Amino acid sequence: MYFDRDNIMLQQIEDSNLQNRNVQLTIARLDLLHPIVSGNKFYKLFYFLQKAANHHCKKIQTFGGAYSNHLAATAYATQAGGLESTGMVRGEEPSNLSLTLQQCKANGMQLHFLPRKEYKEACLHFEANSNLISIPEGGYHPLGAKGAALIYEDAALQNATHICLAMGTATTLAGILQKASMYQNVIAVPVLKGMNDIEERLLYLNGQGRYSNLKIWDEYHFGGYAKTNESLLQFMNFLYQQYKLPTDIVYTSKLMYALMEKIEQNYFPAGSRIVCIHTGGLQGNCSLPKNSLIF
Ligand SMILES: *Cc1c(COP(=O)(O)O)cnc(C)c1O
Repeated sequence: MYFDRDNIMLQQIEDSNLQNRNVQLTIARLDLLHPIVSGNKFYKLFYFLQKAANHHCKKIQTFGGAYSNHLAATAYATQAGGLESTGMVRGEEPSNLSLTLQQCKANGMQLHFLPRKEYKEACLHFEANSNLISIPEGGYHPLGAKGAALIYEDAALQNATHICLAMGTATTLAGILQKASMYQNVIAVPVLKGMNDIEERLLYLNGQGRYSNLKIWDEYHFGGYAKTNESLLQFMNFLYQQYKLPTDIVYTSKLMYALMEKIEQNYFPAGSRIVCIHTGGLQGNCSLPKNSLIF
C-alpha cells in the first residue's frame, strides 16, 4: 500500500537507569509510518480496506469523536486508496471544527454529526458489502484485531521478553495477544479510567478472554481518557529532550510514564528485553495550547 511496513524503526533507548539494571528498552516507532495514518490505526484498517477491494466497494463509513485518531487515519487512507469516506462524529456539530475534523474534511471525508444517544447505538455497526463498508469505532472488531496482529512481525516483537502498549478499545492488544508466545509478557496500559470489561472485549475480538501472559497496569490513566496535567506534559518534554521521542497526550505518554516508573521500581528482572509499541497519535497534540510542548 502507501506505507513502508518493511522498515519500522526500532529505537534503542540509552539510559543509565536501564544499563544499571541490565534491562533493554526498544521503542517500535509505528508513529513514523505516516504523519496522519500513524501507528496502530493503519494496521487496524488493513483488513477492512482489503474487504472494500474484494467487494469492489467504494464507500467507507466509520465513527469517532472530534479528536479521533481513527477518523483522521480513515479519511487519509481511504482518499489515498481512491475511496469515498463518511465520518460519523459523536455529538452536535460545533461552530468551530477541531483540527482533527478539519484534516478529515481536507482529506475528502464527509462529516455527519450524531447526537450522543444515536451515536452510541450506531458506533459499533459493522457491515461489508458492495455498497458500504462500515467500520466500527476504533476498528473494534475481529478484523481490526487481525490487522493489528500484523504489527507483531513488522515490529520484530519475537525477541521481546515484555511487550508494552497503550490500550483504548483493546483491539491492538487483542492482535498482539494472537501472536505473542506464552513466554512473552504482554503489558497493557488502559487510558480509560476503571476499564473492567477487558476480558469480554478480548473474548469478542479473539474468541478468548483470558491470557495468563497478560498484565494490565491500570493506575496510569491520569484521571481518565484525554485527561492530562502539568507533570505529564513535563514528562513528554523530558522524553523528547532526552531521547528525541515524541509522544501523544492521550496514549503513548501515559504508557511511557508507566513504563519508566516500573523500571525505577525494579519491576523488570535483569536481562529483560522490553519492546514498547509507539502506536502514534501525535496529531492529537494539536489540540493543546501552543507552546505546551517543545516538539
Ligand atoms: C487508538 C490508539 C490506541 C488504542 O488502540 P486500541 O486498539 O483502541 O486499544 C493507542 N495508541 C494510540 C496512539 C492510538 O491512537
